Amino acid sequence: MDGKKPKILIIYTGGTIGMIENPETHVLQPFDFTHLIDNVPKVKMLDYDIANTQFNPPIDSANMSPSHWRELASAIEKNYDDFDGFVVLHGTDTMAFTASALSFMLENLHKPVIITGSQLPIGEVRTDGEENLITALQVAAARDKEGEPMVREVAILFENYLWRGNRSTKMSADNFNAFKSNNYPPLAKIGLGIHFNEEALYRVPSRRPMKVRYNMDTNVIFIDLYPGMKESTLRYMLATPDVKGVVLRTYGAGNAPDDAWFIDTIRKAVERGIVIMSVTQCVNGGVRASLYDTGNRLSLAGVVSGHDITSEAAITKMMYLFGMGLPPENVKKYLCYSLCGEVSL
Ligand code: ASP
Repeated sequence: MDGKKPKILIIYTGGTIGMIENPETHVLQPFDFTHLIDNVPKVKMLDYDIANTQFNPPIDSANMSPSHWRELASAIEKNYDDFDGFVVLHGTDTMAFTASALSFMLENLHKPVIITGSQLPIGEVRTDGEENLITALQVAAARDKEGEPMVREVAILFENYLWRGNRSTKMSADNFNAFKSNNYPPLAKIGLGIHFNEEALYRVPSRRPMKVRYNMDTNVIFIDLYPGMKESTLRYMLATPDVKGVVLRTYGAGNAPDDAWFIDTIRKAVERGIVIMSVTQCVNGGVRASLYDTGNRLSLAGVVSGHDITSEAAITKMMYLFGMGLPPENVKKYLCYSLCGEVSL
């Protein structure tokens, strides 16, 4: 950058931050970027070169899909060399999925991709959107002592914290502090200043150029355990046409019923080549498969431990690995590695 103004690209995808109320139905609907930026005149007080691009039309993030992730990744790839950082404005509902997906798709990322949004639209008097947008821009422009980008990963900025994207979960449909990474410390605390936790920031081991992996294979499903699940239900879900991977949301430290039919159905699915990874339904902590007999039986049936990975990161990691065309045994192997800081091993 060498004394030059930070160059930041804002990519507006939609979400509450840019929504306005439909006067007839009174429901919130996405609106275009000009409306959004007109409501934040303070952005001009930042001495940055800011450009923007937007989804056309902007969407409620409940409609987010891998094709939108490709659109986002492509906007970042096309502009990668021309900008110091990227701010993605996104609805909160699927923000943690997008953050996780992008962390895998943008291989060898060396620049900040800061995702933010808000709980109240930017046009509302008590909006959290203005502060989130301005702080996200400042985080994207931050440099370390060597003049390198302070953040070199996909992160979520929301209210008082910056979180690693692939560790984050939406925790509240109400609070301004809507996100948290339950198994990883904040990358920065936002108070009077922006206090980075440099030890927690991800540093890519290689200097290889950024490479986008566009292919996300959606032949993956979640299966959530609950007392009373029927054998026929489990069999039916595991017989989903074309399914290649299952994120099995288990109890506590990775436990599941030890009924013979249950373990047998899981084992047979693994033998058919379906990759099954166990993640915990708890918001905090992770799978420790050998702690209890009920968890250990799953490992013996060929289920991979997801350790402390989030459900959002688990399903998008599977989409990414199958999207690379890897055979099940290699997908299993890479599920056991941390690819970009998504799991503590
Ligand atoms: N439904 C909205 C969205 O995800 C919620 C939000 O932005 O907070 O787009």
